[in-house]
Amino acid sequence: MGWTDERIARLSELWGTGKSASEIAEILGGVTRNAVIGKAHRLGLSGRPSPIKRREAPPAPVVEPTGTTILSLTERMCRWPIGDPRNPGFRFCGRSILPGHSYCAEHAAQAYQAPKSRRVSSEDTRTARA
Ligand SMILES: [Zn+2]
Repeated sequence: MGWTDERIARLSELWGTGKSASEIAEILGGVTRNAVIGKAHRLGLSGRPSPIKRREAPPAPVVEPTGTTILSLTERMCRWPIGDPRNPGFRFCGRSILPGHSYCAEHAAQAYQAPKSRRVSSEDTRTARA
């Protein structure tokens, strides 16, 4: 049995209600489940709503670890640490270094602008030794 306009309309309607292809085939009669699926696909109906309302959450963006690992770090790559060294995602910057520096342009600037606030005071030293 062919697909008349009427049957196609019925197919679209049933498909839209979330009925399974085999149910639709049974209702229409004279077609197989596969024929229903094939026809629905050709009609562009494949993206029918599921009876169970599923929230289509967008896939979480995959955070690609930037930079390079210690294994691929070379002498000409910026060795500015990114992340926590105890963390498996720990990386080094890995960009080309400025000539004469250990870091890329951006990180060299950061390195030399960094305030010397981490100076250990004599008091801390005494406490540590006590
Ligand atoms: Zn860098």
